[in-house]
Amino acid sequence: MAGEPQTDCLFCKIVSGDIPATIVRESDTTVAFRDINPQAPTHVLVIPKVHYPDAASLAAAEPQVAADVLTEAGAVAADEKIDSTGYRIIFNTGSGAGQTVFHAHAHVLGGRGLQWPPG
Ligand code: C5P
Repeated sequence: MAGEPQTDCLFCKIVSGDIPATIVRESDTTVAFRDINPQAPTHVLVIPKVHYPDAASLAAAEPQVAADVLTEAGAVAADEKIDSTGYRIIFNTGSGAGQTVFHAHAHVLGGRGLQWPPG
């Protein structure tokens, strides 16, 4: 059920500590950790502790937690000192857009020039 931990979800297992991750920030509602396959000098994922398959379903059900994810993404950018040079917050949504883990997550990317439009 959406909102409940899923036994087969990788990111629920990171929230519970069953799978290790390099955690850089944690709040009551979110966890931020370094992506294991970084695409930029800073590549951090911010996830809600509750399970929803993507950002839109999280925002529809728990808008405050969706806001918390964005607030934490901004805090990661400040911690990583990429807020002055520019950074990107990305929510891949659906396999056609490159989503591979179906637990809502924000990618925070920065520390290098970023092309527009993204591929
Ligand atoms: O947007 P997408 O679903 O593709 O992003 C999932 C991200 O989760 C990937 O960038 C992948 O490298 C990352 N990942 C991770 N730690 C894991 C498994 C996946 O950081 N244990």
